[in-house]
Order: sequence, then structure tokens, then C-alpha cells
Amino acid sequence: MSPLLSTIPVAKPVLGEEEAEAARRVILSGWVTQGPEVAAFEREFSAFVGAAHACAVSNCTTALHLALMAVGVSAGDEVITVSHSFIATANAIRYCNAVPVFVDIEADGYNIDPSLIETAITPRTKAILCVHQLGMPCDLRPVVEIGKRHGVPVIEDAACATGSEILWDGRWEKIGKPHGDIACFSFHPRKVVTTGDGGMLTTANAEYDRKFRLWRQHGMSVTDAVRHGSKQVIFEDYDELGYNYRMTDLQAAVGREQLRRLPELVAQRRLLAEQYCERLSTIAGLSPPAEPGWARSNWQSFCVRLSDTVDQRAVMQSLLDQGISTRRGVMNIHLEGAYSGERTHRAATSLTRSTSAQQQTIILPLYAQMTVSDMDRVVEALRAALAEANVGAAGDQRAMDVAVA
Ligand SMILES: *Cc1c(COP(=O)(O)O)cnc(C)c1O
Repeated sequence: MSPLLSTIPVAKPVLGEEEAEAARRVILSGWVTQGPEVAAFEREFSAFVGAAHACAVSNCTTALHLALMAVGVSAGDEVITVSHSFIATANAIRYCNAVPVFVDIEADGYNIDPSLIETAITPRTKAILCVHQLGMPCDLRPVVEIGKRHGVPVIEDAACATGSEILWDGRWEKIGKPHGDIACFSFHPRKVVTTGDGGMLTTANAEYDRKFRLWRQHGMSVTDAVRHGSKQVIFEDYDELGYNYRMTDLQAAVGREQLRRLPELVAQRRLLAEQYCERLSTIAGLSPPAEPGWARSNWQSFCVRLSDTVDQRAVMQSLLDQGISTRRGVMNIHLEGAYSGERTHRAATSLTRSTSAQQQTIILPLYAQMTVSDMDRVVEALRAALAEANVGAAGDQRAMDVAVA
């Protein structure tokens, strides 16, 4: 790599003076956790996605745990989901001592194939946990219909999908309304907006929301805000096992500024994704991601697929040698050591599309501050890496032909 060329990261959060000022305001206010900023962030987030209720928590993994608990998932139950996701999706199911039941992804994308869900349903199925992978909404309509037909609640892992939209009854709606029963969001720095760490649960169900609020704060019957504001002495109770899944006011104040930036960030990312697709269409043996007509992705990640003969690792290394950081496509949870033991999961269908997606996809750099020259560098480096890889593949084939002869 030329010393003149700076490294292009795979992602970069947009954080500025506004966020720094917000954190400063909280520090000097003296109220630093689950106070007025958290309440305001919840109000603003629920208004943004169009949800009746929004409850802030410490991250999306804890959000998923509370969502599964709220719909009654407990020991020995089954939850249908995908293996082709970040490990937290399935880990949250196991926190409930329930069993993740994996089905494969669709042929032309990275989300759950709804036509496989019904074959996975058993009398133990307590929830369907679908994922809006990489920010791309999954095909929610059939998922929600299957859930209704079988009386199984639908939870949306919307960790990556803050600001993504879906066409619903002829109108564009934000992911998180929610269209299932509960949606869970992440504000980790790798997502489109960040609070350092952080999460949010949205729902139309007031009873679920009440439970989230109870469980996120040790199962405490009275909140700090109520006790603080009361003229009478109040003693709290702890009738149920709770957790410490709180979001701090420092995080929430930063989150409010990020939410203000979000429409602009999504617009910018959508423009970049369009420009990428245009440029990548001229590279043979590479498939840019496709967006169905009923989805508007926030492009949290921009994932391209290589042809079967190309060595993913070699292409990634070649890009890294040129100062361009990439990531392997989405992992497969069932292939990890933590999922090798008995009763850690059940595969209800073949998972070959999931495994091949992991082996043949690369996540390219995409961040709101990305310039046209950054993008051109990525595209040309990728073109060169693939030309090299194809020569390599042809060479291997010749070597094999010689060996066979
Ligand atoms: C990032 C991510 C999570 C976990 O989010 P945290 O906020 O880091 O706990 C869960 N599911 C998916 C699909 C993710 O991408």
C-alpha cells in the first residue's frame, strides 16, 4: 500500500460537536442514568418509527432477551430463526433456556425464507424471531401471516435496521412500528446510529412495554423518577426476577442527536449504495446486493457476492493490502463452537444457502462520509483482486487437469 493512501475503513460512525455537547449537558445536570434524557429518547424514537411504545435498554442483545421473555419463551420452548445472523440473535433465545430452530435464508438475499417457516413449527414453538439482516427488511408480510395463523408471536431483530422502511398496505412505514409484535434495535457503533452501546424495544402492546420497564431495572416496582418526584416516602418491591439492562442518560442524549441526523444519514447511504451498484455492475463474476420493490434499506452493510470459484479470503487480503478494510459476510451461528453441543440448536431445514452466503460474500466499506474517490478506490481494487483471483482459479484448474492426466 502506498504510504500516501489512507486506510478505508469498513464503517465509521458520524459523531460530532452536537453529540459531545449533549453528553456534556448530561454530565453537568447530575442525572446520568435512566432519567429525563432516556425518557425523551424513547418518546422521539417511538414517534420516528410510529410505535405506541419504545423502551430503551443497554443493547440489542438485552432487548432480544426481554422481548422473548415478554412473549413467554421459557425453558424447553423453541424459537424459529436463522443461523445466518450475528450470534446474539440465537444467544438471546438460549438465555431463556429455549432452543433456536434454524431455517435457511432466501435464494436471492440474506434474510429468512418465509416458505420454510411452517415446516419448522412444532407444538413447542413459542416465537418466530426474524432478522432484518444488514438493514434490509425481511419479507415480513408472510412471516406475520404465518405467526397469526399459528398463534405464534413475531419478534423482529431490527438491530441493523434503524431507519429502514417497508411497503405496508400501500404505504412506506419504518421498521419498528412494529409490524410483528416487538422490534429490537441496536445502537452499537457498527450500526447506522450509535450511543456507544444501546438498544431499544418497540411495541404496540402496553403490557409488554410494562414488563420491559420492570425487568430492565431489577424488577423494581417503582422507578427512580417516581420515587424522586414523590412527596411521600415510597418503599419499592421486587416481585419478579429482573436484570440491570438500563440505558444511561449519557447514551440517550447522544442517541437523540443521532436520531436527528438519521434521515440525512440514510439518504446519504442510499445514494452511496446506488452509486456502488452502478459501478460494480461492470465487474464480471460479482453480484451487487438487490433491493426488493417493497423494501428501502438503510444499507447498514453493503454485501456483495463472489462467484463460487473465487477465494473470498484472498480477495479480502488483496483489498487489505491496498488499504481497504472489508468483512466476511454474515456468520453462520450453527457452525460456531458455542453451538456444537447437544440441544444448543436444531436445524429444521438444510442450511446450505446460509453457509454458501457466508463463504461467498464480502462486506464493502460504506459510511456516510465516504467520498467518490474512496468508492472508486474500492471498486478498482476489487476489480483488480477479482481479475487476479480468476487467473489463480484458472491456474488451479490447469494444475488439476495436469494431475488428472
Ligand atoms: C448487532 C446485532 C445484534 C446485537 O446488538 P448489540 O447492541 O451489540 O447487542 C443482534 N442482532 C443482529 C442481527 C445484529 O447485527
